[in-house]
Amino acid sequence: MSSYRIRASSWGSIFDCAYKWEWETLLGNNSVSGPRALLGSAIHASTAVYDQSLLDNSEITIDEAANAFVYALHHPEYDVNWKGGDLRVGEAERIGLTLHSKYCTDVSPYYNYVSVEMETNPLEIDCGDGITIILTGTLDRARIWHSAEGIGISDLKTGVAAVQKGVAKTKGFIAQLGTYELLYEHSTDKEITAPSEIIGLKTSGKAEIGTASVHNAKQMLIGTVDSYGLIDYAKEYFKSGMFPPNPQSYLCSPKYCARWDHCNFHI
Ligand code: SF4
Repeated sequence: MSSYRIRASSWGSIFDCAYKWEWETLLGNNSVSGPRALLGSAIHASTAVYDQSLLDNSEITIDEAANAFVYALHHPEYDVNWKGGDLRVGEAERIGLTLHSKYCTDVSPYYNYVSVEMETNPLEIDCGDGITIILTGTLDRARIWHSAEGIGISDLKTGVAAVQKGVAKTKGFIAQLGTYELLYEHSTDKEITAPSEIIGLKTSGKAEIGTASVHNAKQMLIGTVDSYGLIDYAKEYFKSGMFPPNPQSYLCSPKYCARWDHCNFHI
């Protein structure tokens, strides 16, 4: 029997360049994060503080919650390569505080959140052939919200292109939302009945926040009666031990791939 733990955010990477994912995740050679990843983490930290305070009726102001942004930006929990990035600390602070304030004013009050960054129980999926996939963890950066259609997942995404023409970008995030749906249902025995949603916060140019709905996100993972899901394809990687390279990946560069110096497949 072999067990493989997969975080919700990993799905995009596995099927982008599996060779890179194997190196960084299975073999533990993590790449150093850039400033934009830290900016995203810091925005998530402060907006989560604010949303949790609304849930708790603890009357934290938007400015008080912003302290969590400043702290997270200046005290990262992982190594950050500021030199290799396109962002300086002062600019990151300006962008982040603007988006924090905009989110807390224009978005948060209109949601009926029932949980923020909820802890979930790992979900073990027996894939056959001695392979078990374990979906883990916290609904990192996500909220559970209650709408007229029932319970749904709402996931915050930051990025330079997180909002396009007023709408949040969903490309590349659906499997992550599907994992959250499976983990929520597994942990609570309650069914997700509302569409999932991305709330995009654009970190370049004018501060912009947009949303987009995603229906049947978990189907991408578990498949349908006549099509495989991503879990079926991932199982084949684990079963064979073959993790194919993808030199056409947009992350195939020494800047983004920790395996670059150990890979014979890039040009
Ligand atoms: S260098 Fe390119 S092909 Fe090789 S592991 Fe990295 S992303 Fe994949």
